[in-house]
Amino acid sequence: RRFSVGLTGGIGSGKTTVADMLAARGAAMVDTDTIAHQLTAPGGLAIPDIHTQFGAAFLTAEGAMNRARMREYVFAEANAKARLEAILHPLIRIETERAAAQAQGDYLVFVVPLLVESRGWKERVSRVLVVDCLEQTQIRRVMSRSGLSEAQVRAIMAAQATRTQRLAAADDVIDNDGDALSLVPQVDQLHARYVALAREA
Ligand code: ATP
Repeated sequence: RRFSVGLTGGIGSGKTTVADMLAARGAAMVDTDTIAHQLTAPGGLAIPDIHTQFGAAFLTAEGAMNRARMREYVFAEANAKARLEAILHPLIRIETERAAAQAQGDYLVFVVPLLVESRGWKERVSRVLVVDCLEQTQIRRVMSRSGLSEAQVRAIMAAQATRTQRLAAADDVIDNDGDALSLVPQVDQLHARYVALAREA
């Protein structure tokens, strides 16, 4: 199987920033969030099941999943999250593998925000790369980007793996507490290592 990296990190840790840097150096990217969005966009493969299981009220006039409504419902209703995931996860897997088979690059990077939390991903990738920073840094960055309150950001973080759990799953770690420039040598070094590992594989 082709050498692959699973890139993960908590909300606002810098996953997208690091993914863009690896892509600029020649890595092939498969972003599971993008795929999940496509599945729930108008005409998306998950829409018929969402319609059947949750009802038309959970679709927008355009035929996308109504994200705001689903988010509320999943928060309030104990089983809803599992029901939605039962629809989405198998489709995400299928579409992810389809994208991976077509991706061109020195090696493959799967961007998976919930890699540590989800079943099967650690076994699927050759290496787990965690973008790490202090919780305080995450909170500051997400607040300034989104306008969420500190309490709202903390609530999202509480639903994700802890920093300790994520680091325990990591083969490689990028420290993103510094400025953007401090990422460059770290990304350069990891990229060179991944290119070498991909050649060996
Ligand atoms: P999410 O989980 O919310 O999608 P993410 O992990 O993909 O987030 P990014 O979007 O890369 O994180 O970064 C979060 C925010 O912090 C962005 O606005 C980004 O520009 C900024 N940021 C990331 N790294 C740094 C850094 N080293 N210095 C300053 N700002 C940064």
